[in-house]
This record gives sequence, structure tokens and C-alpha cells, in this order.
Amino acid sequence: MSCGEPHKTDCRDVLAEVYLYLDLECDDDRRELIREHLDECSPCLREYGIEQEVKILVARCCGAERAPDGLRERLRAKLMEFVVEAEAHEYLAE
Ligand SMILES: [Zn+2]
Repeated sequence: MSCGEPHKTDCRDVLAEVYLYLDLECDDDRRELIREHLDECSPCLREYGIEQEVKILVARCCGAERAPDGLRERLRAKLMEFVVEAEAHEYLAE
């Protein structure tokens, strides 16, 4: 993506799995990779921060730990849009 640093884990993979990460649904190896990536990649960390806020908001509104499935899917789609946009930006900047 846009931070210019090479990463072991692809940004798209990380963003796609941020939900699992937040929900403690992925295994320890995966979590470690994502955590590491978030440490060194600020665009992804920013997205992660947004996800966390959304999660907190959802918990507050719905009184649930987790977003309803429909909402999760919609947010996930939004996240993928963000990745595509970021890539388009990079492409146009070159
Ligand atoms: Zn990244």
C-alpha cells in the first residue's frame, strides 16, 4: 500500500482479517503476523483504529459484543473498497 515499506504480510490480507483479529477468531500465528504488520504499516494501523471504533460503537448501540452479521458484511465490503481506492491512488500517482 502507501507506506512504501515491504511487508511479510500483504496489506489486503491484513485488512481482510482485521475483523477476525478484533474478534479473537484467528489463530495465534495469524494474530502475530497481523499485529506485527500493524506495528510497521501506518495505513493499516489507521484502518485498524477505524475498525476498533466501529466495533465499540456497535457494542454501545446494540449492546452486543459483536456486530450483527449483515453489518459485519457491509463494513467488510467498505474496507475492501478502501483498499482498492488506495491502490488506485498509488497507480495514479506514478
Ligand atoms: Zn499494511
